[in-house]
Amino acid sequence: AKWVYDFREGSREQKDLLGGKGANLAEMTNLGLPVPPGFTITTDACRFYLEHGSPPPDLTAEVDAHLAALEQAMVKRLGDPGDPLLVSVRSGASASMPGMMETVLNVGLNDESVKGLAAQSGNERFAWDSYRRLIQMFGKTVLDIDGELFDEALDEVKAAQGTESDLDLDAGHLREVVDRFKEIVRAHTDRDFPQDPREQMDLAINAVFGSWNSDRAVIYRRRERIPPDAGTAVNVCAMVFGNLGMDSGTGVAFTRDPGSGAQGVYGDYLQNAQGEDVVAGIRNTVPLVDLGEIDRGAYDELMGIMSRLESHYRDLCDIEFTVERNKLWMLQTRVGKRTAAAAFVIATQLVDEGLVDMDEAVRRVTGDQLAQLMFPRFVSGGDATQLTQGMNASPGAAVGRAVFSSEVAVEWAQRGEAVVLVRRETNPDDLAGMIAAQGVLTSRGGKTSHAAVVARGMGKTCVCGAEELQVDTKARTITAPDGTVVGEGDVLSIDGSTGRVWLGEVPVEPSSVVRYFEGELDPDADDADELVRSVHRILTHADAVRRLEVRTNADTPEDSARARRFGARGIGLCRTEHMFLGDRRRLVEKLILAEGDEDRQAALDALEPLQKQDFVEILEAMDGQPVTVRLLDPPLHEFLPDLTELSVRVAVAEAEGHHDEGQLRLLAAVRRMHEENPMLGLRGVRLGLVVPGLFAMQVRAIVEAACERVASGGDPRPEIMIPLVGAVQELEAIREESERVIDDVCRARGIEVRPLIGTMIEVPRAALTADEIASSAEFFSFGTNDLTQMTWGFSRDDVEAAFFHAYLDKGIFGVSPFETLDRPGVGRLVELGVERGRATRPELKLGVCGEHGGDPDSVHFFHEVGLDYVSCSPFRVPVARLEAGRAAL
Ligand code: PEP
Ligand code: MG
Repeated sequence: AKWVYDFREGSREQKDLLGGKGANLAEMTNLGLPVPPGFTITTDACRFYLEHGSPPPDLTAEVDAHLAALEQAMVKRLGDPGDPLLVSVRSGASASMPGMMETVLNVGLNDESVKGLAAQSGNERFAWDSYRRLIQMFGKTVLDIDGELFDEALDEVKAAQGTESDLDLDAGHLREVVDRFKEIVRAHTDRDFPQDPREQMDLAINAVFGSWNSDRAVIYRRRERIPPDAGTAVNVCAMVFGNLGMDSGTGVAFTRDPGSGAQGVYGDYLQNAQGEDVVAGIRNTVPLVDLGEIDRGAYDELMGIMSRLESHYRDLCDIEFTVERNKLWMLQTRVGKRTAAAAFVIATQLVDEGLVDMDEAVRRVTGDQLAQLMFPRFVSGGDATQLTQGMNASPGAAVGRAVFSSEVAVEWAQRGEAVVLVRRETNPDDLAGMIAAQGVLTSRGGKTSHAAVVARGMGKTCVCGAEELQVDTKARTITAPDGTVVGEGDVLSIDGSTGRVWLGEVPVEPSSVVRYFEGELDPDADDADELVRSVHRILTHADAVRRLEVRTNADTPEDSARARRFGARGIGLCRTEHMFLGDRRRLVEKLILAEGDEDRQAALDALEPLQKQDFVEILEAMDGQPVTVRLLDPPLHEFLPDLTELSVRVAVAEAEGHHDEGQLRLLAAVRRMHEENPMLGLRGVRLGLVVPGLFAMQVRAIVEAACERVASGGDPRPEIMIPLVGAVQELEAIREESERVIDDVCRARGIEVRPLIGTMIEVPRAALTADEIASSAEFFSFGTNDLTQMTWGFSRDDVEAAFFHAYLDKGIFGVSPFETLDRPGVGRLVELGVERGRATRPELKLGVCGEHGGDPDSVHFFHEVGLDYVSCSPFRVPVARLEAGRAAL
């Protein structure tokens, strides 16, 4: 195998092998951009390491050869005492995992070569600063020493000099820092900091391999659904130095604003610093435009390279660069992360610039991003007081109680509390807290700080660099400039779109994208905002290219109307049980308790007009579109009081001498109907078969409602859906009964309505016998909630809270199968159902109405297996439209 590639050998297509960073370094090298020379060790080598616990045996020889070539190119030897070559050792997986894995800079420095570096650079301070950084990073990353020990030692030396800035330390102070750092290493590892440059390099490479499985990397991957076994590449690159003096520096840049998509110059620059200083938000950066003043030549060259990269990649790029004594070096580029809003805006901007077409624009955005844009945002008013304005790092409106550590954030969120995580700056250890929180607030660091980058990636609201706030994480307080003190548990509102921070709860308003869907904003108006216009263009194109139709799950006229405005064409699931709650529960109770046919019929007669009126309104809201009404599904005892509570109530009443015949009858019924596994009990079609008249009443209500709509000039398109069918005989029995009712009503009304009669496929047996079932069904709708429940044997109401976290931790699945369809298992049953159903009845209409109908990945699956439509909740309808479009491209 070949384990190592020179930067000149690779290209951006080789991300899986070389990682994103390595592939893009190769791409830039081959574009002729100023990239320091280096080589990439492949992800294959990492996977070998992870599997065997040691690197491939022939890796050393390959690294030797590439190092020799690098030394030749640089005319220096690694760690040479007279004039050392130094290298950086950086991770870089194929999927971007910002800040999740390790980097070691300045490898090759030791007690001797630090002197050579000082002499060669003529800058003793720089040499010792570089050496202390090596020991610090190496100690933390490779030797696994708590990073705070180094921070504290550095702070002590600074404090002794009466300063807080490392720029005030001179070479002598830094030499002292180095001594202290070496002492820390000795104390915690029982050995001296390794002096052999090659040993440093090998250890650093192995540490990068190993960092693939660090806790934070594992959490991040799970969240981002990155495969756990992909591994990382390692990039070994000749060092260039941004910490050589004020004519040097390091920075991060975006070719467009990753927050809004606006064109312009976006980024941060820090003079006399190395890369990690910027990202860690340790010192305050200046805006990138200021580099134009500081170093015109480097700035102009950077601008030229940025526009070249953007046309080459046909997308927003983010960049890391270093200026070494006025010479620009490119250290990294990649297609940059961006907010959801920026993704839409940039996609259509690129269309207008002729760089991509509309198909590509649709591919460039995701349903998850669209869902984020549908969150509400803050409006002014309320009695919250503004504390400050920080940087708008990641948009959204977050309200929650202030917490000051990741642990507390997780703990409070677990008990259902909304929290805002407040930190001076975040680091990768805060990841779990960031996930748990509604939003993140930091007092230090710019838009490229860890907090900002990670929050944007997660779609989490973030305000960073709120420098006016004094955050004391030990005392758990924030002190605002006016003296206001915010303590743990106080409610904060933070606005990631403006950077504003309030004490108290600020009211929120719907998003502009939702207002557009509601028809309140006209995307073609002259003053329409750019985001609304982009969303409109992209969804219009998705609608034009998609094959899947999109319906909605709705059981009220309001939801139906909203879903229609959001682009749904019809209802795929109208759950009638929701119509039996509230006041009507009493009527259902009567039905259940009925002792004779007469009583039962009376209860049914009382329910029917109410049901009918529900259907009239829904059919009106969905006039001209199919409305699939599902007959009653849940176990009847859901409409009765809880057995234990009722028993206690009756027992207490009896003990007090109150004898209530009605209550006793109720208790007897509840007891009779009690089931240990109600979800596998008397529900769905089984109810229809054992409770005489129940389904007939519902069918009559549907047909009566349709007739009434026809009579008032409407175009009702009801469909009747039978739940929980497992055998064609069940369906046949209900179909015969229903057809009789339909005939009766139509004859009596003198109006022809012929609802399709179909079934849900949600019991595995139904999927397996779909060929038989299709003989009696005019449509199938896959009920993937129950189908998942019954295929896995997972109670859908219990398991997610009970043990899914353990399953996710153990990697048994990467995401809950109730959220994203389990393709190899449940998906296989769906495929079978489609195949066998269509074999019997080629014109069979096929849809899905489980929660998966609004889940992006699952929508792609339903497209692939050839369903006709997906049905989802009204707010997911735009997401499903977009993903159905993306699936078709
Ligand atoms: C299903 O089981 O997927 C379904 C849509 O029905 P319900 O969620 O109402 O059981
Ligand atoms: Mg179901």
